[in-house]
Amino acid sequence: MDFKDLTREDRKAALVRMGEKSFREKQTFRWICSGAESFSEMTDLSASLRERLAQSYSFERAKVELSQHSKDGTVKFLLSFPDGVKAEAVFMEYEYGNSLCISTQAGCNMGCVFCASGIGGKIRDLRAWEMLDEYICCSKAAGKPINHIVLMGMGEPLDNYGEVSEFLRQIHSPDGLNLSYRNITLSTCGLVPKFERLEEDFPQVNLAVSLHASSQKKREKIMPVAKVYPLDVLIPACRRHAERTGRRVTFEYTLIKGENDTPEDAEELAALLRGLNCHVNLIPLNTVTESGFSSSSRAQAYAFAEKLAEKGIQCTVRRQLGADIDAACGQLRKKHT
Ligand code: SF4
Repeated sequence: MDFKDLTREDRKAALVRMGEKSFREKQTFRWICSGAESFSEMTDLSASLRERLAQSYSFERAKVELSQHSKDGTVKFLLSFPDGVKAEAVFMEYEYGNSLCISTQAGCNMGCVFCASGIGGKIRDLRAWEMLDEYICCSKAAGKPINHIVLMGMGEPLDNYGEVSEFLRQIHSPDGLNLSYRNITLSTCGLVPKFERLEEDFPQVNLAVSLHASSQKKREKIMPVAKVYPLDVLIPACRRHAERTGRRVTFEYTLIKGENDTPEDAEELAALLRGLNCHVNLIPLNTVTESGFSSSSRAQAYAFAEKLAEKGIQCTVRRQLGADIDAACGQLRKKHT
């Protein structure tokens, strides 16, 4: 078993069973977070403990298999884990700092029609340490600090809640990377039953909901999950979330030419979100050839934004980052598996 695959509690228990003081766990955790490649690098542990750990556990890290650099500073990484499974992470530069989009599953079962990650379904859930390794490997490879993360890469984070919550606790821990919960955004396609758990466990983590349509009929067409958790269930759950946490909910709305980008769609969206403490991110679609969809024009995106603003809905048209590389979620892995 890989030492990193234990939860922090289990690591502590394992070290105590080996006759060590429990604070040794903090030392090993610091080494994990600093990117150590083996037990032998953990020089504040005795040589005998390092040897015993190496005899009992493996210690393998994720590897950057491939990276694509965009002119706009975006870097897309293809990472491989020790069992050969691959996942993607995307590094992006913003005015407020650097952000990493992290995958929580290899593949995805949610089947959104515009997304390359869903093609082929889910291979497996990623473990907490693998998500942590995405962060550590990518910040090393990018050579820049990363102060925000978004769980918006491959996979549905709420479909892997146990591992995702362990990861959030680990990346937030002051014993290691100390990333503020406020700098973390979890993006879901709308698995409503998990919202309450998230509110209780991580009220400061930002919630982003992939909405992508303003009517039930249109949403069902592009997101199968809408049949299970329809808009009249999802939107009230988002209102509750905003009230309980006191935090703004972000709605991700990918603009797809001819599908969801008309002035009527904007009006319908504004009516749907009226009175909700929220912000809408309008995202030009990164074209996925298989989907047959293409992006709305910039002009159409701004017209859509204007309509929302008129109706009192805060929104931003996002830059199309990494358009010259395979920046759409799941594209790079698909090409290289
Ligand atoms: S958009 Fe997200 S939830 Fe939908 S298939 Fe892609 S990774 Fe899964």
